[in-house]
Order: sequence, then C-alpha cells, then structure tokens
Amino acid sequence: MSAIEVIEPATERVMAEVPRAGAEEVDAAVARAKAAFPAWRAVAPADRAKLLRDLAEAIEERHEDLARLEARNAGKPIGDARGEIAMVVETFRYYAGCPERLLGQTIPVAGGVDMTFREPLGVVGLIVPWNFPLVIASWKVAPALAAGNTVVLKPAELTPLTALELEQIALAAGLPEGVLNVVAGPGSVCGQRLVEHPEVAKIAFTGSTEVGRGIAAGAAQTIKRVTLELGGKSANVVFADADLEAAAAAAPMAVFGNAGQDCCARSRILVERSVLDDFLAALQPAVEGIAVDDPLAEETQMGPLISAGQRDSVSSYVPDDAPVAIRGSAPEAPGYWFPPTVLAPVANDDRAAAEEIFGPVACVIPFVDEEEAVRLANDTIYGLSGSAWTRDGARALRVARALETGVISINSNTSVRVSTPFGGFKQSGVGRELGPDALEHYTDVKNVFYATEGG
Ligand code: NAP
Ligand code: MG
Repeated sequence: MSAIEVIEPATERVMAEVPRAGAEEVDAAVARAKAAFPAWRAVAPADRAKLLRDLAEAIEERHEDLARLEARNAGKPIGDARGEIAMVVETFRYYAGCPERLLGQTIPVAGGVDMTFREPLGVVGLIVPWNFPLVIASWKVAPALAAGNTVVLKPAELTPLTALELEQIALAAGLPEGVLNVVAGPGSVCGQRLVEHPEVAKIAFTGSTEVGRGIAAGAAQTIKRVTLELGGKSANVVFADADLEAAAAAAPMAVFGNAGQDCCARSRILVERSVLDDFLAALQPAVEGIAVDDPLAEETQMGPLISAGQRDSVSSYVPDDAPVAIRGSAPEAPGYWFPPTVLAPVANDDRAAAEEIFGPVACVIPFVDEEEAVRLANDTIYGLSGSAWTRDGARALRVARALETGVISINSNTSVRVSTPFGGFKQSGVGRELGPDALEHYTDVKNVFYATEGG
C-alpha cells in the first residue's frame, strides 16, 4: 500500500502518514463485515445498547485529543472541534437507546396475525466528507450499528485520522472484530468499490451533489439502498420586522462557520430592501471582527480552507470586479487562508448566488416583500437548510411552510440536533439522518403473516 500524506491546512505541512487503502482493502473490509454480521445482529438488544454506550464513553475519554486531531487535520477552530466531538458522543448515546426500541406493528387482517419487524440490511457502506469528518461519520455509524448492521466506513482522503482512531477505540471498547471497519483511500477507488460491491446492501453518502449523482446511478446496478446528504445554498431571510441586531449578529457565523465549508451555510442572505442599509451597517463590524487564525488558538472563530484546490475554487467566485461590500481579515502566512467576504447587492441568479461556493463568501440579496422572499429563497436546485428572522409569528410559520427545504430555523441559525431529522429537499439529498427517522434508512420492513384459521 502507498501512503496518504495527511496535510495540516493551517501550516501546509504533513502531519501524519497513513496507509492508502485500495479496492483490495475494501473487499477485505466488506468480507470482515459480512462475516461479523450474523453474530452482531443476534446480539441481544440490551447488550448491543450497552456496547454503544461503552463506545460513547470511550470516545468521551478521548474528547480533547480527538478534538485537537480534528482541529489540526480539518483546519477548524478548537472550540468548534470540541463541540463536534461532544456531538459524536451524544449521537452514540442517543442511538444506544434504539436497539430496544426498534418496534414493529401488528396489523388487523383476516385469518391470522400479521406483524412487522425492522430487519437490519447487512453490510452498509458509509462515505463521508472532510468538512465535519468524525461527527458526520457518527451520524451514520451509530444508527447503522444500533439497527444491527455491520459497517465499512470510508473517510475523505484529506481527513482520515479521526475515523481511523474511532476504529481502534471501538475495538478497545469491546465492539466485536469486523463490526466497524475503516478504509482510508480515494473516493474514485475505495468509494466506488463500495458502491459497486455486490455484498454491500446500502450506501449512506455525505458529499457533493455531483458525486452523489454518480453514487445513485452506480448503486442502481445492484439495487442498493441509498441515502444522500448533498450540497446546499441555503437562504437566511431577514424581514424588516425582525430583531435586526440579533439577525445581523447571527448571520456571519451562519456562513463563515467552518470557513463556509458547511452544507448548511446560509450563504444567501435575503434582506428586505427597506432595512438593507441598516443591516449591512450592523453586519460590517461583526464580519470584520471575526478572528481568523490558528485553529488551535482558543479565541479563533475561523480557520483556513481545507486545501489549495478549495481556495482556488472559492477565489473564482470573487473576481476583481466582484461587488465586495465587506471583507474580514486572514493571516499572511502559510496555510489555505481566505478572508470572510460579503458580496452585496447580488442578484439571485448570479453565479456566486446560484452555486455552492463552500467557502467564506456570503451573497446579500435584497427583496421587497414576503412573496418575493419566498420565491427567491426557493429559486435554487438545493433545499437543505435555512433561517427566517421575523417578530411576526404567523409570517414565521407561513414562510417556514413555504420554503422548499429540509430544515428551517426561525430566529436562529442552528440546523442539527441529535434527536431531530436532518436532510435535504430537491437536489440536496434523499433520506434523513439523526433522530428517529435515520433508523428507517438502516432497516427493511419484514411483514409476517401467521395463519390462525387454517391458512
Ligand atoms: P465529495 O467530493 O463529494 O466527497 C465526499 C466523499 O465521497 C469523500 O469521502 C470522497 O472521497 C468520496 N468520493 C469522491 N468521489 C467518489 C466516487 N466516485 N465514488 C464514491 N465516493 C467518492 O465532497 P467533499 O468535497 O468531500 O465535500 C464537500 C461537499 O459535501 C459539499 O458539496 C457539501 O455541501 C457536501 N456536504 C453535505 C453535507 C450534508 O449533510 N448535506 C454535509 C457535509 C458536506 P475522497 O475525498 O477521499 O476522494
Ligand atoms: Mg471532493
């Protein structure tokens, strides 16, 4: 096996080398997962729950060093990384409550008793991106294992380190050999092999819409179940009747959090025209004050981008003649830095407003009334997340219902909670993660009829 040189994006230096898996390693991992499946599905529900709780505790014991590893490898602020590892723990704890609650139904029928069971699928292939490496992995691994599946997890080649740690932590915490297998290698080789592999029953993928399309097409060959969490271009709709101070205070990190490399980034800020100037005036100090610095420094709010390629891609959306209204700071040092940037005013069909930039660039788009706000917000191929800011409760609910998006927050920029469903409308994806909904995507329903009156 050749080696993956893992780069620290804040310094551009190699921070680790790990073996690079190829198709053979994927096949071996699938074989281990397949061998482990019969015994894992047969583990008593309470015992499977205990193993998941033990795993949560073992991760929690490593909280600080996993957070530092993630912060360095993904270039994210240490405070954010700590929050993510805490959510990993919370996710395993939440799904530890599920093996004993995978309920079926009894259905009234003639001639007998009819009942349903939620059966595990078998070996599931999980493919995750580099922006939230371990936490997105946990959203898939935890429900998959809770439902009785065995797992082959493929982290992004840029950020394999915490997933590889998870594999070791799980073994040490008592998870049987072969139940959780990690293959670190390129998507075009390892990811593709998982998608094609005849023994893999399901692919759960988080990543770009472009790769997601290929995965859906590839999985069709063997009728694999597929769930997809894809890109976004979410709207942050600010009405004139909102608490403008609160909306302007929340808007920057709703885009610039994780240096904008967040599928939930509210990167289209729609502002009612009558308050546009006031809003921009309030936004300016907030954006200029964002601490863009070393991910390991406690006060840092935004780190570098993940790679030179990502920086080139983001830069292409801010050409010299771009309408830059506000620009924050960025270190003049090695590292893939890009300053928080606000473009205003922008038309909704401009390239910067239409495409997912996946970097710290926000577009401010004016609107005149509620009808136009909803029309503009929905005028996108995506539908993942979003916010609306208003003091009018009826309007808040009207807009929430009218927006074509899987998640919408009122007077808040939050998107994910462990106990609530997360996922996209339209080309932002298929299926839901987190909450009770995720379990449905890691099981098939079996219907059993038992004749009581002679068949
Ligand atoms: P990406 O290029 O689509 O990669 C995601 C994962 O897929 C990586 O592990 C990648 O492997 C793998 N992959 C690449 N080509 C593949 C192929 N042909 N077959 C199978 N797997 C393949 O996405 P990214 O650049 O890492 O992440 C950015 C994108 O993810 C953004 O569009 C963002 O919106 C989306 N995202 C969505 C969510 C959500 O929940 N909706 C969350 C986070 C990110 P390698 O990188 O190792 O080659
Ligand atoms: Mg990619």
